[in-house]
Amino acid sequence: MTDIDAIRAQFPALARNIGDAPLIYLDNTATTQTPREVVDAITDAYYHRKANVHRGVHTLSQEATDAMEATRRAVRDFINAPSAEEIIFTRGTTEAINLVAASYCSLLSPGDEIVITVMEHHSNIVPWQLAAQRHGLRLRAVPLAADLSTLDLDALAGMIGERTRIVAFTAVSNVLGTVNPVRRIVDMAHAAGAVALVDAAQAIAHQSVDVQAWDADFVAFSAHKMYGPTGVGVLYGRRELLEKMPPYQGGGEMIAHVDIERSTWADLPFKFEAGTPDFIGLAALHTTIQWLTRTGLQAIADHEHMLLRRATDAILDMPGIQLYGDAPGKCAIISFLMGPRASAYDIGLLLDQMGIAVRTGHHCAQPLMHVLGVTGVVRASFAAYNTEAEADAFVGALARIRRMLRL
Ligand code: PMP
Repeated sequence: MTDIDAIRAQFPALARNIGDAPLIYLDNTATTQTPREVVDAITDAYYHRKANVHRGVHTLSQEATDAMEATRRAVRDFINAPSAEEIIFTRGTTEAINLVAASYCSLLSPGDEIVITVMEHHSNIVPWQLAAQRHGLRLRAVPLAADLSTLDLDALAGMIGERTRIVAFTAVSNVLGTVNPVRRIVDMAHAAGAVALVDAAQAIAHQSVDVQAWDADFVAFSAHKMYGPTGVGVLYGRRELLEKMPPYQGGGEMIAHVDIERSTWADLPFKFEAGTPDFIGLAALHTTIQWLTRTGLQAIADHEHMLLRRATDAILDMPGIQLYGDAPGKCAIISFLMGPRASAYDIGLLLDQMGIAVRTGHHCAQPLMHVLGVTGVVRASFAAYNTEAEADAFVGALARIRRMLRL
């Protein structure tokens, strides 16, 4: 990064201590920290523009509505969607996938198939299970290749058939860091007449996402993993599909007309946005996109890859540390275990005592843990504001733990 100190200064949390040690925040895959200007946008909206959207003629309500709709256009441009009407605001990736699973799957027939992969986050597994149970669908999962890092694309080719209706997969694994060949998988889905949903939760802040270049039918992501506010996210959906899908939830905002017996639906995108949205969080998502664009996704990705290489090279020199995920070009995520005896939880606690925040456990990817033959791993992940000194301190901490464990 050109001026890492200037970037860090925008994140007050990074100046904290944990006990006596300065915080080293390496839990960025779970959520990123949020820059001051995004938090200021939230505060400013609460202080000056808190009026419900879409229903008011008064100035405050108009301003709140304008701010939210400006975000919709900013998201459209950020992911190169053809139109703002195809941008549906949700609570996050999870709700976006649930929306598609509940609504699109209601159009399917018993025996139709949904293909997912074993490296999915639970939020891209369980909604499909619920839909499969409800509509008599069959759920199939693409295995990993022998490298235990990438998807077995031959198996995928064999799995996609004439009953396949949806192929749902992650652009980037939240455990292995693997960057999947999105366009290739989407093309395979389309060749069989299926639609493709891409979980972009881990991609959105680490590479530029272009839904048209992907040719994806649905794309889901959360603002909190892209330096933005909690509680808001996005579903991009192809217009023809969204138009034929029934509403996901009923309530205010999503109707054209309501009688006691029946109702008609609002046009896109509002058909899928029942109730008062988190319009303040959504206004702040606009600021988030401006921050990300100004900081530069390519610069962020280059910086993270440099840190990943630096830390990985050092760890590879330390016997007794088992790394999970070494796909070429992977995202800056290091998942590992140490020695035969220490649990991921133990290592996480020891790192916390040194001020280093990592995540431990199954990372909402229990099927993947099963394939890897573990119950959990430790995961360290880098973001725009992490420094080489922090990467070195992390490696140094692992060396200390190795000595404690006599590895
Ligand atoms: N998919 C992936 C790949 C993720 O990493 C996550 C969050 N860990 C999710 C989906 C779910 O995101 P959220 O909890 O923000 O809905």
